Amino acid sequence: MPDIIIPLPASPKSVRNEHILPVIPLLNGVVFPSTETILGFGREKSKRALENAYDATRRQVIIVLQKSSVVADPKPDTLESIAVLCEIDRLLPFDQEINALVKGIKRVKILEYIALEPFLSARVVELNETIENDSETMALTNSVIGEFKKLVSGKQVDFLNFMNLMASNAPERIADQVASTLNLKTKYKQELLETLNVKERLRKVIAYLTEEVKIMEIEKNISVKVQEKFDKNYKENVLREKLKSIEAELGEETETKEIKELKEKIKKVAMPKDIEEKALKELKKLQQMSQFNPEAGYVRNYIDWLIELPWNVETPNHKEIQKAEEILEQDHFGLKKAKDRILEYLSIMKLKEEKERNNNKTKTKSSTILCFIGPPGVGKTSLGKSIARALGRKFVKMSLGGIRDEAEIRGHRKTYVGALPGRIIQGMKTAGTKNPVFMLDEIDKIGNDFRGDPSSALLEALDPEQNYQFSDHYLEVPFDLSNVLFIATGNMFETIPPALLDRLEIIRFSGYIDEEKFEIARQYLVLKQIEASGLTPENIEFKNSALKAVIRKYTREAGVRNLEREIAKACRKVARMITSGDAKKNIITENNLHNYLGVRRFIDTIAEKKDEVGVSTGLAYTEAGGDILFIEVALMPGKGNLTLTGQLGDVMKESAQAAFSYVRSRYKELGLEPNFYQKIDIHIHVPEGAVPKDGPSAGIAIATALASAFVKKPINRYVGMTGEITLRGSVMEIGGLKEKLVAAHRSGLKEIILPKNNKKDLEEDVPKYVLRDLKFHFVEKMDQVLPIAIHSFTKRKSHGKTKK
Ligand code: ADP
Repeated sequence: MPDIIIPLPASPKSVRNEHILPVIPLLNGVVFPSTETILGFGREKSKRALENAYDATRRQVIIVLQKSSVVADPKPDTLESIAVLCEIDRLLPFDQEINALVKGIKRVKILEYIALEPFLSARVVELNETIENDSETMALTNSVIGEFKKLVSGKQVDFLNFMNLMASNAPERIADQVASTLNLKTKYKQELLETLNVKERLRKVIAYLTEEVKIMEIEKNISVKVQEKFDKNYKENVLREKLKSIEAELGEETETKEIKELKEKIKKVAMPKDIEEKALKELKKLQQMSQFNPEAGYVRNYIDWLIELPWNVETPNHKEIQKAEEILEQDHFGLKKAKDRILEYLSIMKLKEEKERNNNKTKTKSSTILCFIGPPGVGKTSLGKSIARALGRKFVKMSLGGIRDEAEIRGHRKTYVGALPGRIIQGMKTAGTKNPVFMLDEIDKIGNDFRGDPSSALLEALDPEQNYQFSDHYLEVPFDLSNVLFIATGNMFETIPPALLDRLEIIRFSGYIDEEKFEIARQYLVLKQIEASGLTPENIEFKNSALKAVIRKYTREAGVRNLEREIAKACRKVARMITSGDAKKNIITENNLHNYLGVRRFIDTIAEKKDEVGVSTGLAYTEAGGDILFIEVALMPGKGNLTLTGQLGDVMKESAQAAFSYVRSRYKELGLEPNFYQKIDIHIHVPEGAVPKDGPSAGIAIATALASAFVKKPINRYVGMTGEITLRGSVMEIGGLKEKLVAAHRSGLKEIILPKNNKKDLEEDVPKYVLRDLKFHFVEKMDQVLPIAIHSFTKRKSHGKTKK
């Protein structure tokens, strides 16, 4: 049908019951006469129609349902023919839409459309309803009200609607108003609109209403049943709990087997009185708990902890110093200083105890804690074990490495899910006695951050003034640690928190020389590993030459851990050969060693290298003890760039910059052009790039390597050096001297250049054999270093004035 465009009459006039009015289609929904509703209109045509009507005096429109809700721009044949004449009470533009308060006035029939643009308009005629005011209509109306009341009481319908309904007494209005609130498909609503016979309409409304009431009642029923079921369970639980408390009140508790057993255990452990009371209280709590209560598991766990801790179990404390000495000697080679210090410590402990016993004091307090510091594998742990053996006590070890959370030491409160006591209490449980030797390993690696400071909790555990009632968050009751012999260990003491360090008596283990390692292997490790692999000395023998070769060619370490590992490896190989039928005795020599251990691992010993230009020998101090490191400098044509590689830390990089500046400032003495560095690139590398290195102490070694590279003269590789360099070429004091010198000795260096200020440390703690075998040069200035380290180094006379 072609669009016919007819201008609207300026003011729609009505002829009898006919009107010409704008038509607004609804996608979904029917407006009934005598109802009010707010509708939102988004389509342009509808908005135009609305605005046009609103500006007119009558403010009337026809609202009609679309037959299909998918048509965007409906044409007359897609619209229902029965519609409602409505009044627009108010317009509220909102965003892209216009909201309108629409009041239904009268049913109409659309006779013809007289315009399609700018909006639909049609000629309509009012429809007359068939209303019979008889008793049947009355009865039907009452019935509608009755059913509707049920919906209201079921809170399905707004109470206000009901009040409106009651206010009107015309059956046709009541039918329409109820129809508008029904939860009906639009097509049924349209059908109600088209039902002009009021009785008929009332009947239909009743049918829909009863259906809705029924559905509402079914829903209500379902939710009541769910609620009832829930209530029943709840009631049962409450009753059960009440029964328990009634039984408890009457003293008629029925103890389960579990409770009985736990009670017996509590009595047997002989805890301190107050702790036993606490345990029994918790037990009572457990007894009264429903088995479904998740908390029961936690309470049970807690009681188990109380039962299993060694409140009163003690091993007799042997304190014959003579015997202790024998055991320490038996278990360890060398370590004279450490052993002496331990024996002194034990003697003091013994005397103090005797004195306190005589004075009738109860607590034994040893105010300092032994702390063994040294590289890995030097026998710290095994010495601790020997002490325990010498004293006849149990031994436990706990690693503190990486602990950042106070709760790791002191536990989490019971209220946390999965809470446990801290490591100290866990260690005590493992020990099973209240006077073990308790080794706190890696005390130098303890950290602290926002989760609290673990070292302060540790201090409390170590402090004899406080530790007889150490508090653990989980345990809640104090535990007596005063009989524990704590021994701490670590690789370096520089990183131990100062407050802790204050409490510790440091015993340093500097690492072994090759001869000591050989004796340790010969006297201890070989036998230990033969036994551990299930062999006997009839199956295997290590010749001395083989052990020495293992030390030199297969390991490079301060301790003997890898040495022990290599010996174990050879033993395993022999064990395998024996089990596969080869019963002959294996004699391991230097020559056949590779059959057992594979190819040698270390070849870069000093003796096997040669003196090179641009390669100096530095001394380093790391967690693994002292070591030597080679600093390599390569020069190439370029633009004066300085490259540093080998995982160097910031401090070491800065020290390399300082060394370079020093070399530049000495260009005259080195016989170089003033701007010699502008045409070359310099690369400084410290091999074993995978090992991070840091610290300022390689300064003079870097400067020496640089100078050697520039003057093109080789460095004596047997000269090791360590010292910080300043821009003006002064040589500053360094740390870790002892470990560095032991490593230098181990690596076969012959001469050592040291800062003059370190001379005082030399006599103090460096082993005698090191002092005996090495030649020392003490320097204040870098200028003194170069002639010692670089072969045939001659300082050029600088021309002009030189400042001294
Ligand atoms: P650390 O605790 O210092 O890292 P360990 O105590 O674990 O070292 O020692 C590693 C191994 O070396 C152990 O089997 C230990 O018995 C052995 N060991 C270390 N030093 C000696 C020694 N002086 N005498 C005998 N055995 C030693």
